[in-house]
Amino acid sequence: MKLKLHWQIFIGLALGVCFGFLSRWLGFQPLVVEKVSILGTIFLRALRMIIVPLIASSIISGVTSIGSPESFGRLSLKTLLYYITTSLLAILTGLFLVNIVRPGVGAQLGFQEIPEGLHAGAAKIGDTLLNIIPTNPIASLARGDILPIIFFSLLFGFFISRSREPYRTQLTDFFNGIFQVMMGLTHFIIRFTPIGVFALIAKIVAQTGFGVFGPLGSYMLVVMSALAFHAFVTLPTLLVVLGRIHPVKHFRAMSAALMTAFSTASSSATLPLTMDSVENNAGVSNKISSFVLPLGATINMDGTALYECVAAIFIAQVYGIHLSFFQQFLVVITALLASIGAAGIPMAGLVMITIILRAVGLPLEGVGMILAVDRILDMMRTSVNVWSDSCGAAIIATSEGEKDLKVKL
Ligand code: ASP
Repeated sequence: MKLKLHWQIFIGLALGVCFGFLSRWLGFQPLVVEKVSILGTIFLRALRMIIVPLIASSIISGVTSIGSPESFGRLSLKTLLYYITTSLLAILTGLFLVNIVRPGVGAQLGFQEIPEGLHAGAAKIGDTLLNIIPTNPIASLARGDILPIIFFSLLFGFFISRSREPYRTQLTDFFNGIFQVMMGLTHFIIRFTPIGVFALIAKIVAQTGFGVFGPLGSYMLVVMSALAFHAFVTLPTLLVVLGRIHPVKHFRAMSAALMTAFSTASSSATLPLTMDSVENNAGVSNKISSFVLPLGATINMDGTALYECVAAIFIAQVYGIHLSFFQQFLVVITALLASIGAAGIPMAGLVMITIILRAVGLPLEGVGMILAVDRILDMMRTSVNVWSDSCGAAIIATSEGEKDLKVKL
């Protein structure tokens, strides 16, 4: 009997951790960091290779199958409402915990180096929102700018469904065909996930070990507890109440995607697996998943939003700066915006914190303090990001009257 993919990935993950530690212990880290990690790089490149055509074709074919402008409008509204509500709930959970535990008060932290691109990143939020409208969609495709690609694909798909025959059928078939091919390619690449995950994790463990976590322990604990609360209490409650969906069944259905999110720290790179799991394991229709998930991977980042809020307030606490109620409110709003603007790639959230720091007048250099533990928190928040996207897809599918979900209560 063949081992299920999520078990294979789990074994890859566990072996990666063991191998990484062994390399630290026996002193062959350079071999892992330089050579074994190549397998991880190949896997990530293969995933990135399919993202742009997968997103474009899935959105176009998804939108053409939605049908009337009314159902398109309804679906968009539901999706955005879900994204904003869950991100806000996540931020409030983080805000609450960081104010109760106050991990930054009295913490003695050495500064690490300042991350590259810090100042450039901070300048970009206004532009990011404006840049959703591409001036040249082909250039966006070539650069892999996901938000403009989504924007153009939504419009393109919508106007295919409004065009007259025979063009409507021809183009719908054409893009459905491309989408089918992309899904086939996705399945092929997904088969290599266990090896990719093994190599990525082995490299991270070989590089960092556990030593760096000491002084930032309580900060990490706050982020992790808040993420856990959101993932295991808030979202499951929404699943049950809004979708009559069994959280454990749904979690199991999503396990391959969640472990990949954890290992790659990239929602975009995980998107092919997320789509595969949501459709094939949870039973959500392609119509819903191909609309909700690419959008979610880019703008719905509950984990990132929560993390942004906790990190900004932690930095204020370390500097001994008291934040007024209004400033905390500003943190909540900017954390939401920053999570929407953050790309689904590793460390995107870290750079985005500068937006919040700037908005409430905190020193940008504060980001340097939390750099050391960013990777592990990135892996966790990315898993929460993907988990929330998948819950959204299932809830919206139920609300649209889909009866074939395999994860019902
Ligand atoms: N790595 C996260 C993601 O891809 C974004 C972040 O850095 O928070 O979802």
